[in-house]
Amino acid sequence: MKFATKAIREGQQPDPTTGAVIVPIYQTANFAFKGVGKPNLFEYSRSGNPTRSAFEKCLASLEEAKYGLAFSSGMAAVDAAISILRHGDHVISSENIYGGTFRLFENVAVPRGIRFTYVDGTRPEAFAEAICKETKLVWIETPANPLLQLVDVKAVSEITRKHKLILVADNTFPSPCFQRPLTQGADVVVHSTTKYISGHSDVIEGAIVTNNEQIYTNYVFYQNAVGAVPGPFDCWLSLRGLKTLAVRMKKHEENALKVAQWLSSHPKAANVIYPGLESHPQHMLAKSQMDGFGAIVTFQLRGGMKAVEKFVDGLEIFLFAESLGGVESLVCHPWSMSHGAMSREEKGKIKITDGTIRLSIGIEDVDDLIGDIDKTLIGVDI
Ligand SMILES: *Cc1c(COP(=O)(O)O)cnc(C)c1O
Repeated sequence: MKFATKAIREGQQPDPTTGAVIVPIYQTANFAFKGVGKPNLFEYSRSGNPTRSAFEKCLASLEEAKYGLAFSSGMAAVDAAISILRHGDHVISSENIYGGTFRLFENVAVPRGIRFTYVDGTRPEAFAEAICKETKLVWIETPANPLLQLVDVKAVSEITRKHKLILVADNTFPSPCFQRPLTQGADVVVHSTTKYISGHSDVIEGAIVTNNEQIYTNYVFYQNAVGAVPGPFDCWLSLRGLKTLAVRMKKHEENALKVAQWLSSHPKAANVIYPGLESHPQHMLAKSQMDGFGAIVTFQLRGGMKAVEKFVDGLEIFLFAESLGGVESLVCHPWSMSHGAMSREEKGKIKITDGTIRLSIGIEDVDDLIGDIDKTLIGVDI
């Protein structure tokens, strides 16, 4: 089956007891045993639940993975992904990563004795240069939040393979519709399914997929032992989201490209970043490693913080909010929001300024979106 078909059918056979076409919300904590030592298919919903299992199977198939596990948030999935590390282990991460991931690394993992080195993800050899004898895992996010830098997954995976390191890719931005890192050499893929996968900004959830049985077994243990599992209704919402992922991503991308092209010629916007623009320094890599360019457009508003305030206040269709990946368009100020946990110096190092604006382009009529930005920019002084 191809992607759009799998999204609708994989893991979703009609319910065995009633024939229900849609996987029901199995809102139950436990499942009756058939007898002593004879559990049913499921025992207790922390360990496993049929609605969750359907979502895990479907998502895994879309990533071309054997195994999938759902978590109560993207951050719970990130935490689970690094749960295989022990005191003294070393991680190499690309420096442009989601602010919450950086916070978890620095404020949760570092106090537990794990060391991190951050490198320029656009240079595969930077990962090789940072390897030491304690290195166990390499973390990448591509395209990265919010400046849309790409990491060459194949090139980095050649390095991690050679040194027997685990390569983890956060695939939230492109979703499996536009990029499947396991097919390019990654060992583990992490998602905030809160974003494009659920797609409607109505659920917080995360997931991990892998083809590595040993790593999977470790994660299954951690998922059950720690218990950061999503509820059945959350899984049902995300499973419903998956069904339309292919059509949504197409429309998201079509709109994002038009907005990016339009902004590129606007005098008040500088440095418009979108992997689908030929001006993106890694446009060729994006073309070869992705099936689409996604729907996040980042630019600098000339005029800094004052201009940003005017801009976000003036927009009517774009909502000023955290997050991304929903059908509605959002505007975010990474400096004070998604990357607020980073210091001034850390933000400066990865080139986030107080004038950086990130747009999450939705699937509304693109003329309305451009019209909203156009009219708002008229009132912004630079
Ligand atoms: C949002 C996000 C996360 C965290 O996910 P939550 O569901 O908010 O916990 C991790 N990585 C990326 C790239 C994200 O955008």
